[in-house]
Amino acid sequence: MKITIFGSGYVGLVTGTCLADVGHDVVCMDVDEAKIDGLKRGELPIYEPGLEGMLLRNAEAGRLSFTTDARQAVEHGVLQFIAVGTPPDEDGSADLKYVLAVAATIGEYMDGYKVIIDKSTVPVGTADRVHARVSEVLETRGISHDFDVCSNPEFLKEGAALDDFTRGARIVVGTDSEKVRERMRECYAPYNRNHEKLMFMAVRAAELTKYAANAMLATKISFMNEISNLAERLGADIEEVRRGIGSDPRIGYHFIYPGCGYGGSCFPKDVQALARTASQVGYEAELLTAVESVNKRQKVTLFEKLSRAFDGDLTGKTIAVWGLAFKPNTDDMRDAPSRTLMEALWAAGATVQAYDPEAMKECRRIYGERDDLVLVADRQQTVKGADALVICTEWKEFRTLDAQWLKAQLGFPVVVDGRNLFEPSAMKAAGLMYYAVGRGDTL
Ligand code: NAD
Repeated sequence: MKITIFGSGYVGLVTGTCLADVGHDVVCMDVDEAKIDGLKRGELPIYEPGLEGMLLRNAEAGRLSFTTDARQAVEHGVLQFIAVGTPPDEDGSADLKYVLAVAATIGEYMDGYKVIIDKSTVPVGTADRVHARVSEVLETRGISHDFDVCSNPEFLKEGAALDDFTRGARIVVGTDSEKVRERMRECYAPYNRNHEKLMFMAVRAAELTKYAANAMLATKISFMNEISNLAERLGADIEEVRRGIGSDPRIGYHFIYPGCGYGGSCFPKDVQALARTASQVGYEAELLTAVESVNKRQKVTLFEKLSRAFDGDLTGKTIAVWGLAFKPNTDDMRDAPSRTLMEALWAAGATVQAYDPEAMKECRRIYGERDDLVLVADRQQTVKGADALVICTEWKEFRTLDAQWLKAQLGFPVVVDGRNLFEPSAMKAAGLMYYAVGRGDTL
């Protein structure tokens, strides 16, 4: 099938590449010329495991191309995926300006029947707004074309995006049109060989499904963080509690890890946007508001613990930071807990000495060159001459540690672990003051 994808970010590139990989003829369009020029040269704007090889292979085979030319993009695909960003507006609701700009572009150049597919995470009712925008533009052109708008939210996780796209639990499509169902079946047939994954539903249900899924996952995280904070104050170890509750099949072990708060481009903005949608229809979503405020509080706990360890004075201290990305296997630092920590450290007069296997370029892009941000080549160098260590991201390579060696490197033997990577008893035996999340120690 001929497919166009608007937006060449995490979702657009993964979608385009995976659909090309099963033989579709895909054009990826983006308004960012530097990004498209880079892609044409085979340079990827993001890090996602496995993506580079698959993208280059399909580009080479001529099934995947990149353009900034809107007319060419619209004329190409019968399926027009919208995968542009939906960042939070000033009041927390999803800003639809990029989505509606794509709708206008499609209306501008449409030359025949198109299925317009909202893959971006968009509030309930957006498909209607996209439909209206395309119709308006067609009207100003004084022509009419048949088209449909459907919802096909994306559930991929950064860091495992290819696997999620190709072997995800479900493919949700919201539509009431048989014509759309037929085309979406054809598009996803290679990923739906057992005809179990493709779930058709009403458009509004599909739009809400995406927000409900993210809100549920964020709720699990905030719930565990809330119990961790209690565990810290009650002298209980949250890791024991986690195993105790996870063994109940109604609860399960997935996604109940305590930590330093959720970040990334989705959970924070989607929980906020859903709460905002609720208030727009006169409903106060108390649970969602609490999930968000627990998370905000959790993100400052790393700094608070560190600050208490230094009696509130971090001036002139050098703090080693392991992990900058909001989670492992990505270079994405949007809303990452590391950012809350680093910004608080800088405000307190400390210097950050950090390492991340993939996100250092992104860190420089965000913060630029500054004296109080030193990026080093590996985790060993991070702690050399540092006063204390904070662990923000659970990259695999951080999971083993010679605690004696670490103790010898640090000026002050404090380790604040936002991901519970180590056994407190082993760390303490090495003479380290180890403060993890909810492990019975209050600092
Ligand atoms: P991103 O910021 O990485 O990429 C968005 C891209 O859209 C950018 O390259 C931007 O230049 C481009 N763009 C903006 N306006 C455009 C236009 N008019 N025409 C063409 N391109 C345009 O965003 P992302 O992380 O890929 O997220 C995209 C959407 O998917 C969001 O709604 C997000 O909530 C949702 N989503 C993201 C993830 C994730 O893990 N990143 C997962 C599921 C859903």
